[in-house]
Amino acid sequence: MRWSDFPKWGKWAADWAAQYHAGLRDRPVRAQTKPGEVLAALPASPPDAPQPIEDVIADFERIVVPGITHWQHPRFFAYFPSNASPAAVLADNLVTAMAPQCMLWQTSPAATEMETRMMDWLRQGLGLPDGFAGVIQDSASSATLAAVLVMRERALNWDGNAHGLPGQKPLRVYCSDEVHTSVDRAIWVAGIGQANLVRIPTQGPLRSMNVAALETQIQADLDAGYLPAGIVACVGGTGTGACDDIAATCTVARKYGLYTHVDAAWAGSAMICPEYRSLWAGVDQADSIVFNPHKWLGTQFDLSAHFVKSPEALTQTLAIQPEYLKTHGADGIINYSEWSVPLGRRFRALKLWFLIRAYGLDGLRQMIRNHVTWAQALAEKLRTVPDMEIVTDPVLSLFTFRWVPTGRDADQATLDLLTAINDDGRIYLTQTRTQGKLVIRFQAGQFDCTEDDINTAFDVITETAAKLKDA
Ligand code: PLP
Repeated sequence: MRWSDFPKWGKWAADWAAQYHAGLRDRPVRAQTKPGEVLAALPASPPDAPQPIEDVIADFERIVVPGITHWQHPRFFAYFPSNASPAAVLADNLVTAMAPQCMLWQTSPAATEMETRMMDWLRQGLGLPDGFAGVIQDSASSATLAAVLVMRERALNWDGNAHGLPGQKPLRVYCSDEVHTSVDRAIWVAGIGQANLVRIPTQGPLRSMNVAALETQIQADLDAGYLPAGIVACVGGTGTGACDDIAATCTVARKYGLYTHVDAAWAGSAMICPEYRSLWAGVDQADSIVFNPHKWLGTQFDLSAHFVKSPEALTQTLAIQPEYLKTHGADGIINYSEWSVPLGRRFRALKLWFLIRAYGLDGLRQMIRNHVTWAQALAEKLRTVPDMEIVTDPVLSLFTFRWVPTGRDADQATLDLLTAINDDGRIYLTQTRTQGKLVIRFQAGQFDCTEDDINTAFDVITETAAKLKDA
């Protein structure tokens, strides 16, 4: 294929994308593929001779599309959303056409300077004070890793990269049980060791870290010769949307000189609506915050927004400047690759620019408010259904429930209900475990989701439970 063929196939791809999105409600949300099916359909050896693009496209439709779980389906209620707005998809198409590698300012000044401006637009949209600077990371996991590495370096007086951890006091990082496993992985990769990630018990309706217990633990660790380094707090934890008390957590952090990172990967998008900001009150006191516009805002995977009070702490931890990466003769520039673990960077900021301009913050706020309102209404409706138990109340647009028909083990019944719902295909839900119970998570967040889609979710859940009860 040559660039001269591109207009024909590019137009085909644009038409295909529009039709795909228009027809999503007719497809099962979760791929109904059996393990190994796609692999078996792919030839074991690569072709030596070029093949017509028509054949590749025919195979794409035949083999690939049925094996896709449709994250952009308006009735995708599983995990967290991974929203793709058409404006952001268009921007990514343009980026892909240019395919710049934006590791340094000079490798595409527009990408760097757009990133600076877009992160500041987002900062303002979230109501964060202007003391925060932003960088786009590929994922919340990467942002959390960067933050944990800063905690480590700061606690070790910036000596960990140079000399490693042997001979140092063991470091300690604190979090609740509700944080995402990306925190565990960051602790492993940073060499701090799982045993030094200390879980603080939670309390209250938002399953928040018990801050008194946090302080007691820090004090006990200091007495025992450990080196407390930082705290990872969560706002909108993955399982059930748990939220730590950020103000109280930061007060303890400040008292003991610890670095605080707030993981708001999912819930952060909702903070463009002032009325939800009480969930992270005190966040202006944090050192580092991550949230994923690629979850709920509409800039498809991947785009993770990482805000830090001190970019210097990040660059002191991560920057490395061999001659081949130096920019001579340009002052006052930012090389964002010095703010993150990977060197190479995609031009991600363009899709934020397209998104925010195409919908305005008001349009995005309305989408999020709708999701929250509709999910909360669904929880209330399900609460009235016999044998349905709401286990955790909605936090924004996420709640959990289980099915407790009499005479059956509730965990097994709930799992059977979930399997039957996902086999039906009209909606997609996933499970978690909380308070020792297996529960089904429901979150609304897909860009094109409507109130009718939420009503369909109610119908599917209740019809499926009734069928299973009669079986
Ligand atoms: N933090 C939270 C609260 C999450 O829910 C997730 C993923 O769902 C992550 C972190 C990891 O996100 P990413 O895939 O961007 O690394």
